[in-house]
Amino acid sequence: MSVSLTGGCACGVLRYRLASRPMFVHCCHCTDCQRQTGSAFVLNALIETARVERLAGDTRGVHVPTDSGSPHEIHRCPVCQTAVWSHYGGRPALSFVRVGTLDDPSALPPDVHIYVRSKLPWIALPADVPTFPAYYDSKQFWPQESLARRKALFG
Ligand SMILES: [Zn+2]
Ligand SMILES: [Zn+2]
Repeated sequence: MSVSLTGGCACGVLRYRLASRPMFVHCCHCTDCQRQTGSAFVLNALIETARVERLAGDTRGVHVPTDSGSPHEIHRCPVCQTAVWSHYGGRPALSFVRVGTLDDPSALPPDVHIYVRSKLPWIALPADVPTFPAYYDSKQFWPQESLARRKALFG
């Protein structure tokens, strides 16, 4: 599949390209994501870190506290501090790329809405996208190809 999924930080020092479409896209309405973004939710494209090609610049990882206690490292442009992706659970092989940093964020709409138990009440969700009060069973909702990619990562 031919895709051009390029993105970068606010100051332009950091530029990246996704080498393929992600495995899956989360719209997360949890309170951690709300706090860390200062917004209502975060949009995360889950993709192999090896497929996140840095075209320019570098990132600096910052560890942040989480409600669950599981590790969460946010990678930011060291110049302008825009957050571009995260690693969760101490698994650097998997990146959660912040879709809003793509040049065309509309290219990757969410496949699921999660943690909608803390969704802000004025957000109306589309009826055709699965929603979950908390997390969800990826085996049930990910395409077979994406499950195979994840298996190749983690076994
Ligand atoms: Zn920057
Ligand atoms: Zn979240």
